[in-house]
Amino acid sequence: MKIAILGAGYGGMVAAWDLRKAGHDVTIFESEDYAGGLASGFKEPHWDWSVEKFYHHWFQSDSEMLGLIRELGLEDKVLFPRPLTVMLYKGKWYPFDSILNALRFPGLGFGIDKIRFGFVGLYLRLTKNWRELEKFTAHEWMTKYAGKQVYEQMWQPLLIGKFASHYKEVNMAWMWARMHVRTTRLGTFEGGFQKFADLFAEKLRERGVEIRFGTRINSIKRNQDSGLSADGEIFDQVLVTSSPNLLAKLCPELPESYLKGLLELKSMGAVVMTLSLKHAISKEGYYWFNVPKDEGYPFLALVEHTNFVSSKHFGGDHIVYAGDYLELGHEYFSMSDEELLERFIPAFQKFNPDFKREWINKIWVHKTNYAQPIPLVGHSKNIPAIQTPLDGLFFASMSQVYPWDRGTNFAVEIGRRAARMMLDD
Ligand SMILES: Cc1cc2nc3c(=O)[nH]c(=O)nc-3n(C[C@H](O)[C@H](O)[C@H](O)COP(=O)(O)OP(=O)(O)OC[C@H]3O[C@@H](n4cnc5c(N)ncnc54)[C@H](O)[C@@H]3O)c2cc1C
Repeated sequence: MKIAILGAGYGGMVAAWDLRKAGHDVTIFESEDYAGGLASGFKEPHWDWSVEKFYHHWFQSDSEMLGLIRELGLEDKVLFPRPLTVMLYKGKWYPFDSILNALRFPGLGFGIDKIRFGFVGLYLRLTKNWRELEKFTAHEWMTKYAGKQVYEQMWQPLLIGKFASHYKEVNMAWMWARMHVRTTRLGTFEGGFQKFADLFAEKLRERGVEIRFGTRINSIKRNQDSGLSADGEIFDQVLVTSSPNLLAKLCPELPESYLKGLLELKSMGAVVMTLSLKHAISKEGYYWFNVPKDEGYPFLALVEHTNFVSSKHFGGDHIVYAGDYLELGHEYFSMSDEELLERFIPAFQKFNPDFKREWINKIWVHKTNYAQPIPLVGHSKNIPAIQTPLDGLFFASMSQVYPWDRGTNFAVEIGRRAARMMLDD
């Protein structure tokens, strides 16, 4: 078969890998000039490693991704350092990267609250029954079972941070998915995620996959005789890995009920500023600061990347991300980089009172409309089928990895699932 794949993110690349292995003729169309999609990175000339446009790491439980890396013979390049994650309580940061530290966290209160926190954590770790949990919002379920104190201190800030005004609509299966599989150890790739994407793209090309970078597909149509036309070029099958919104625009010929399902899916965007600094922000060497939105910080997370990966890989520069998940139309999407920096600088001074503008070597701001799908109550019935009703057209995106939360691991899982369905078709 002659197969087209839209997107050289992990979903598209792994599908191409499997389809090519099965002997098909595969072309990837990628609108950007590089591979990696949302998990891509960039590099200054004096850096040995790239940094991600949107902070990224893997969990030890990311078995699909780690399995793929082994298959590509790159497992010796995966690192799991031990960075420190912290949470704020009454103006002080506390470590929050292990069960023991979580139990020591003063924000969880004493006695019964800690016991409830422990039991709820254990229950979510053990149960597999996410279908029962998706019937409730995380807000109501957590308030009922974990208790008001634990919910408001721990889980409500996370929900508000990720989903803003939608935080009371998100279902409990989303929370379950995070607690059920994620580990506290965080991993990365030697050289950065972009290095991995480049090596993967190289291996695809060696195997005979054609990758056309800088090539945006604008329309997918049924071809008169058979197959599908992607901007006029005919293929037996097409796999789209973009957002549901984009698929609806690319292929208005899809039946109305499928299009409606695509357009009804909700998601959050993200804005992330990366700073290269002359000095470290965290005096204690913390990596990930969970920032509660209601405490007046202008972002959700401050991530000091060079407390995860040594600054020696960045010519001694200290790399910090300040990021947030935002509703489309939020003012950050239209602000200039300088305006955003003005907004953020007072917050950097809260993390380190010595912080000065002169510390900044350079900033970059990356924005995306499609960063985090929003799973509502009973969401499993909203997931669009991978095999669309249009013959030969398949769709695999972040919005379909549910009940799992989006991530490169699940992009690999769904990319492989889509490839299997295409082979069976
Ligand atoms: C802020 C943020 C933090 C994250 N943190 C993590 C993390 O720590 N760990 C983790 O594993 N994951 C993380 N993720 C999620 C992860 O990036 C995604 O789940 C994953 O990259 C999705 O891969 P994909 O292949 O499905 O889609 P994408 O990576 O979005 O790939 C789609 C590709 O299609 C291309 N494309 C779109 N339209 C067209 C067109 N018309 N023609 C041609 N090409 C087109 C795009 O340019 C893109 O390259 C994070 C995401 C964000 C936004």
